[in-house]
Amino acid sequence: MGDETNYGFATRSVHAGAEPDPTTGARSIPITQSTAFVFKDADHAAALFGLEQTGFIYSRLTNPTVSAFQARVANLEGGVGGTCTASGHSAQMLALFALMNPGDEFVASNKLYGGSITQFGHSFKKFGWNVVFVDPVDPENFRKAITAKTKAVFTESLANPGGVVCDIEAIANIAHEAGVPCIVDNTLPSPALCRPIEFGADIIVHSTTKFISGHGNAMGGAVVDSGNFDWSQNDKFKGLTENCEAYHGLNFYETFGPMAYTVYCHAVGLRDLGPAMSPMNAYLSITGAETLPLRMQKHADNALAVAQWLQQNDAVNWVSYAGLADSPFYSLAQKYCPKGAGAVFTFGVKGGYKVGMGVVDNCKLFSHLANIGDTRSLIIHPASTTHRQLTEEQQISAGAGPDVVRLSIGIEDAEDIIADLDQALQKAS
Ligand SMILES: *Cc1c(COP(=O)(O)O)cnc(C)c1O
Repeated sequence: MGDETNYGFATRSVHAGAEPDPTTGARSIPITQSTAFVFKDADHAAALFGLEQTGFIYSRLTNPTVSAFQARVANLEGGVGGTCTASGHSAQMLALFALMNPGDEFVASNKLYGGSITQFGHSFKKFGWNVVFVDPVDPENFRKAITAKTKAVFTESLANPGGVVCDIEAIANIAHEAGVPCIVDNTLPSPALCRPIEFGADIIVHSTTKFISGHGNAMGGAVVDSGNFDWSQNDKFKGLTENCEAYHGLNFYETFGPMAYTVYCHAVGLRDLGPAMSPMNAYLSITGAETLPLRMQKHADNALAVAQWLQQNDAVNWVSYAGLADSPFYSLAQKYCPKGAGAVFTFGVKGGYKVGMGVVDNCKLFSHLANIGDTRSLIIHPASTTHRQLTEEQQISAGAGPDVVRLSIGIEDAEDIIADLDQALQKAS
């Protein structure tokens, strides 16, 4: 599509990373359902394996359909390169794998997706990666928790489910003063509503399972590098700046410059950990990404209408949507997500745990399930489901206490979504 940087966001959502197929002329990206790719000759094979040329070897490393999708996500975020993975969780693992060694630390927001808190706090410990959780509402908390062993700072742009908007610029500045990158999980707003790299974030991770693919039919994750972080500024990132034994002494930083991190994520991360995205899921996600700006605007407009309606409802104690003018995060939302504060938010019912579960049980249009970012409206009671593994203290600090109901507002008609909540609240209360 020529010089992609000159096109607007909607144009890039449709075109970035996707040329017509050079052999068949197919206009839609073909699903390249092939495990491996034939080499032109022995020199070609050797050059590919030695990372002297880019090309396709084996679909655990790269695949044409997956490549097209990762180029699109990287373009939409304003990064230089991307790596797609089987899920959002594996994207988080890969993003940190390039930076961390056993005994290292990273500082993470305590207002994260519940699965991320469990992944960071329990499973990553087995790798010797130690997380320190802090409240992101005061960015200074990150500074206080950084030590000589810290290799990264991790936060969500919009936090699920607490309705928290993080001050990305302040958090990124603190990370940079300590010589470490700021990693932002941008799943909730998607790049259509929030572009953290423009505010100093260095690495973006996504669960593309959610809004980017957008139709609740394809698991996936992505890691995008801004290309702005200088890995050689200190000796913290030896995996990138020292010669790599497994590639005959190749030095990623010297060889690939701003692409060093992305090449590492493929050539070491995907190669050795193995969470590759399937071509079919890449295809579904590319198709989804084409309508991302249209869908996100509708999601966000509907969410605001529903949040305003809930706020007036007698059965509801509070609504935590950052797009509401009385939200403590309203001004941060105006700065970071001026087109809308996303579609996922929580509200608190009068009557606590039982009423919360009752609302979920009585909804008809809403689907009761553990996902967000579908075209359909979704509902769940986090304390009894997604955040069940956490202690009550952790639940409350993550915005998932007993009275909390979480919504992911779809792209149906706002009146129908509101009518469904209205009848469910009446029955449950
Ligand atoms: C769902 C989600 C994840 C995990 O992604 P999966 O694709 O389910 O592995 C991480 N972060 C956020 C904000 C999410 O919503």
